[in-house]
This record gives sequence, structure tokens and C-alpha cells, in this order.
Amino acid sequence: MTTTSLPRRPRMTEQEAKSFGRYSQQNAAQVMRERGCACQPYRDVYTFNRWRAQGYGVKKGEKAIRLPTVRHDLKENPDTETYEMIRHFSWGFVFCRHQVQPWSAQARAETQARELAAHESQEHRAALVETLAAHPGRDLVKYVARSGEYKGELHQLTTAAARALTGADPARAALADDTDHVRWEYVLDQLAGERGLEDGQAVKYAAEEAAKMLNEVQAS
Ligand SMILES: [Zn+2]
Repeated sequence: MTTTSLPRRPRMTEQEAKSFGRYSQQNAAQVMRERGCACQPYRDVYTFNRWRAQGYGVKKGEKAIRLPTVRHDLKENPDTETYEMIRHFSWGFVFCRHQVQPWSAQARAETQARELAAHESQEHRAALVETLAAHPGRDLVKYVARSGEYKGELHQLTTAAARALTGADPARAALADDTDHVRWEYVLDQLAGERGLEDGQAVKYAAEEAAKMLNEVQAS
């Protein structure tokens, strides 16, 4: 099994947190209106993340000031397979110097540890989804018994389901004694050929593995 590793966004440095591309008189006026203080954008007014990068945390109960901003995004052009810069209007949420206080070393460490854990579990989940999307067992997941604790067993296969999976009526020899169901091993062997897997057992493992991954995604 291959897992996809996603690029990690680098943490902002203090210098980056203080640098901006442009200055806005309107934003300063907006801060004056909302807060009644003389805090200046890009000197006393930053986003939560930019304050954090400078060693400040937002005081409990403080509400963000909303400022209009232009955001930039990279969008992939599927025709040329290149990325293009796009701009769109958005709201920025910022806090002025009166709303923040220096972080204690302990508070900082605790918050960063919590965020790192959340970030890693998010990355792990995204990698699982990617892997699942190309997994040879992904369409068999619905036949894996998953009630309660994961069991990793295949349900009984109805003839209709077998037809849907293989695209043909099951051979007489493949039918189970009740003739409403099909023996999995016949279907698995056929799917193995189609999917380039070694044998029916490998298809069964793929189904179980995909089910396990889906369980994990759903639980996260
Ligand atoms: Zn202020």
C-alpha cells in the first residue's frame, strides 16, 4: 500500500507575520470605528495567526474586528497543468494590540502541541482519502461487514450484487446452495484478473483494507 504524503505548510516566522504588501487607510478607520482606539493596521492590528507568530495570544472574550481583504489563491489549470494566481474578495478577522497579551511559555507550548496534533490527524485523514480513492478494494467496501467493531468479513453476496460487480450472470457452479447467493471465491477470482491482483484472496484483503481505511476516515 502506498500512502500519499502531503506538503506541509511552513510555520510563519515573526518577520513574515509583520510584513504586509500594502497599507489601507480604510482599515485604520474601520478599527477606529469598531474599537475606539488609535491602533494602526500593520503595526497594532494583526490576525490571530500573525499575533501568535509574534508571541501574543488573544485575551479571553475578545471579538475579532472584521476587515475587507483581497486573498490570493493558487488554482490549477487542468488544460495546461500549471497553477494560476487568482484574487478574490474576502473578510479578514483581526485583533488590535489592546485585545492581546504576551503568551506565557507554557500556554504557548500547550497551544502549539494541540494544534500540531490536530494538523497531523488532518493530514493523516487527507492521505487516507487519497489512498482510498485509488484503492483496488474501494468498491467492495460495502460488502464488508462493519457492524460494531470492525470484523473484516464479506457479507453474503446476492446474485444481483455479483452481476453488478462482474457484469455477467454468475455461472451455475458459483451459486450457493440457496441459489439466491453467489460464492464469493468465484467472484473474487474473476475480480483479481480484472484488477491485476494476484488471486481472489488478494482481492479480499484489498476489500478489508479499504474497509478499515474507510472506518478510520469516518471516525476522524
Ligand atoms: Zn487598540
